[in-house]
Amino acid sequence: MIKKASLLALVVCLFLVLLSPVSVQARSELAILDSSVEVEFPLALNFNLSAESDVNITDIRLHYTVDRMSYAQITSEVYIEFVPATTVDAKWTWDMRKTGGLPPGSIVEHWWTVADTKGDSIETKPVRVQFDDTRHFWYSLTEGKTTLYWYKGKQSFAQEIMMTAQQVLARLAEDTGAELKKPVKIYIYADDQDLRGAMIYPQEWAGGAAFTRHSTIAIGMAPDRLDWGRRAIAHELTHLVIHQMTFNPYNDLPTWLNEGLAMYAEGTLEPRFTKLLGKAIAEDSLISVRSLSSPFSAYFEESGLAYAQSYSLVEFLINNYGQSKMLELLNTFREGSSYDGALRKVYGFDMEGLDSWWRQYVSEQ
Ligand SMILES: [Zn+2]
Repeated sequence: MIKKASLLALVVCLFLVLLSPVSVQARSELAILDSSVEVEFPLALNFNLSAESDVNITDIRLHYTVDRMSYAQITSEVYIEFVPATTVDAKWTWDMRKTGGLPPGSIVEHWWTVADTKGDSIETKPVRVQFDDTRHFWYSLTEGKTTLYWYKGKQSFAQEIMMTAQQVLARLAEDTGAELKKPVKIYIYADDQDLRGAMIYPQEWAGGAAFTRHSTIAIGMAPDRLDWGRRAIAHELTHLVIHQMTFNPYNDLPTWLNEGLAMYAEGTLEPRFTKLLGKAIAEDSLISVRSLSSPFSAYFEESGLAYAQSYSLVEFLINNYGQSKMLELLNTFREGSSYDGALRKVYGFDMEGLDSWWRQYVSEQ
């Protein structure tokens, strides 16, 4: 009898020893049951989390960062509103209509922190989500640092565009010494309407857009509009290269230099621009270089001449002073130089000086 009782006690003890640490731990542990993200391009990212604890969960935060060029790594923190409970399903929608959109292919990294009334807290591992435009089935083609994505048109169409991109990069390096430092993505939408559908606040005239901090271009181009598309690729790709070359926390490039380089990369100036330039020279109504340093109007009627003059200014600098001086100018701007300071250092004249030398150059043409 005694033996049996002590054996039973031993078994009970063993059972308790085996069981209790597990059950105590399980009851006290704060745990994530599930977490997920849903991409709703271009409108939203929907984040979901389920968590439980033996006491009320009182604090849930979502943390996220976007992979883009910046000088300080910015992490956004969202305090989730919910009723404290032992089991909680949290949801948060990143509404792009409130913040402005992200280009296709953007990478968003996020993680959660959860805490309960006992002061226990838990942090999930970071998860990377690609904000892809899943409304289309994309093909891709990579060469060097450039990746092209398209969904309409044959492989040969994509190869033509890739060849254009590579030629633009080679010519840009030859004319200005500027090169890509980071990989770039080019998204080819089948037409303007599809492109506008990929943007939160599309501009009516936009046939293409450069998301410079994301090193991404989106262009609306049907396979039968290759000639127009070549110019658009050259223009927007140049904006990406120049941005990568001169990115600094202090100062932007003067607009005439940024747009002028992009126009110059397109090839010869289109007749509609040549006409505007010729008319302004004849009527003595050219815009000053100082005014051209500020952003241009969004309307072609007002900004056409500004683009034409920008092209001509860049052509003047490259033809007369060469590639190495242009590269020096871009490198000087990367150091955050003032507009007059950079010109003076590299060419020995300021904006007024450039203005008068350039007027002489165009009047002699
Ligand atoms: Zn531009």
